[in-house]
Amino acid sequence: MNKINILVVEDDAPVRNLITTTLKAHEYKFMTAPDGASAIMQASSNNPDIILLDLGLPDMDGIEVIKKVRTWSNLPIIVISARSEDSDKIEALDNGADDYLTKPFSVEELLARLRVTIRRLAVLQSELSNSNNPVFTNGRLRIDYAAGCAYLGDEEMHLTPIEYKLLCLMARNVGKVLTHTYITQKVWGSSWENDVASLRVFMATLRKKLESAPDSPQYIQTHIGVGYRMMKVE
Ligand code: CA
Repeated sequence: MNKINILVVEDDAPVRNLITTTLKAHEYKFMTAPDGASAIMQASSNNPDIILLDLGLPDMDGIEVIKKVRTWSNLPIIVISARSEDSDKIEALDNGADDYLTKPFSVEELLARLRVTIRRLAVLQSELSNSNNPVFTNGRLRIDYAAGCAYLGDEEMHLTPIEYKLLCLMARNVGKVLTHTYITQKVWGSSWENDVASLRVFMATLRKKLESAPDSPQYIQTHIGVGYRMMKVE
């Protein structure tokens, strides 16, 4: 297998060194960029598999880098933010980031996020190679998009139209953190406070049908104050 190539965008040299040392020790390939302009240049000319992107850069906001890269590529972007406010993460996710890490983070956290992202990468690649596949599978879950049915093992799931829509949206973005706003806009076409409250209710009923242990969900992960993510299940 080819080594995964990661573009590390970080202006803070000690943090950058911590990340690259970790990547090296775990046999990842990497390149680095200390600011937004060189990040965009590297991303366009050197074809990284994943971008690790600090949001606070000296020349521009990391969000601008995401917007730019998203004009030509859907490669996974993990944002790194020193700002612990949820609003920054949410803005980054709404602009197309896949996941986030909050500083200070541990080496284990970094590696765990990379593993999740690499599984997402594999899904994106298999989608590319068979883009007409009308069936989605993840662990025991199977969605037949053409028939409009979802199955858990051999059992058909009895879902309401909204639960089905929600499940399909999560499935089409497996591995990616989706914000409350994004989900409610896709499912209801709007994003009022009430919709976020309804989303919690629908997510709870969907989980009851999907998860064997709804209190420790295997498929759909909650990101408190941010949103939800469907995990790729082995
Ligand atoms: Ca910074």
